[in-house]
Amino acid sequence: MPATVRGRFAPSPSGPLHFGSVMAALGSWLFAKQFGGEWWIRVEDVDRDRCRLRHEQTQLGDLELLGLHSDGPIVRQSERTAQYQVALDQLLSAGHAFECRCSRAEVAAMGGSHHRCLNPQRRGPASIRLQVPAGTVIHFRDRLLGAMQQDVHADIGDYTLRRADGQWTYQMAVVVDDALQGMTQVVRGADLLDSTARQIYLQSLLNYPTPEYAHLPLQLDRNGRKLSKRDEDPRAVNLHDAPVSMLQRAWLALGQTPVTAIRNADTVAEFLEIARNHFDEYLIPR
Ligand code: GLU
Repeated sequence: MPATVRGRFAPSPSGPLHFGSVMAALGSWLFAKQFGGEWWIRVEDVDRDRCRLRHEQTQLGDLELLGLHSDGPIVRQSERTAQYQVALDQLLSAGHAFECRCSRAEVAAMGGSHHRCLNPQRRGPASIRLQVPAGTVIHFRDRLLGAMQQDVHADIGDYTLRRADGQWTYQMAVVVDDALQGMTQVVRGADLLDSTARQIYLQSLLNYPTPEYAHLPLQLDRNGRKLSKRDEDPRAVNLHDAPVSMLQRAWLALGQTPVTAIRNADTVAEFLEIARNHFDEYLIPR
């Protein structure tokens, strides 16, 4: 365990927080706070088509109501182009990334990996892709799920860092931000497990440290589908009326014991204080 644990919650403001995001917020807070670490909030608004300022304000207001306060400055990815560009230039000059004007369908037809643009004569803006050589197999240990591995070349191929329209991808932004913000711990929903190997590979090329990863179980809807921020969660409680009961529900969904003190907590501050002392990561369902 490093001397200072620093974890984060990094919602995309594409809708209001749903129950699964409250689980990720509380889960990441508990992992960081159980040993006195820091917990930061980051606004992941690279996707300009889906993210809205009003959702950001609602999400941050909801986190405030839940008593989950950021220990560091709350940055917006949309304002961090300069940082992403530095990392991109590093990858380009080391020959790890290349400009590409091939369409998605063309790349898919080549099995995902082609390592150079096959249509350099095309005009217009190019996307930037990361070269993933054959044999790029990433191994990591998830704190909840154990040993994981992915062949990034075979499963993913050369992935996009910046789209032709100039938009940074999630993989690029999250890797640069986690490193520059000094994150030692990434606790998030298991829907992002599949991105982890891509992120670790990018960290290795940029000489960034790899944080520790823990992927929380997903809260599924009645039809067994992952809850999306755009879906109305039928089990959502009104945060304004009952923030403590929202935290209590997230606590149970994280497999934690409903000790009396947790059930009797009157305020979010009281709940969180008790929760941080009673949190047991071994109880989280895998
Ligand atoms: N922004 C992502 C989301 O809202 C989370 C990214 C992460 O935690 O790495 O799903």
